[in-house]
Amino acid sequence: MAKAKPPEKDAYDDMEMWRCRQLGGPVTFKYCRVMNEGLPCPRLPGCWGARIDLIEYLEANFAVEEMEKVFGSESKTRLARIIETINRVREEKGE
Ligand code: SF4
Repeated sequence: MAKAKPPEKDAYDDMEMWRCRQLGGPVTFKYCRVMNEGLPCPRLPGCWGARIDLIEYLEANFAVEEMEKVFGSESKTRLARIIETINRVREEKGE
């Protein structure tokens, strides 16, 4: 079976977050993926991690250096930190 094509950069652009914790009002994913000088918002895992396959999306569309710029590159790898955040959000939502 052929592997599914990874999501394009604009695949989730029309999805809406009813209340952005930074702006206080609704925003679309399109805003979230570019609001940080053209890069994603650092809060992406907490806001979108339970709604889309964020790891697959980020890996398909952003370079390691870009992810490190957004999420930091301390002791843990970027992927480990993102997975940890997504799992925490899912647990909080009882998934
Ligand atoms: S990811 Fe950032 S910009 Fe998007 S809704 Fe969350 S806090 Fe707001």
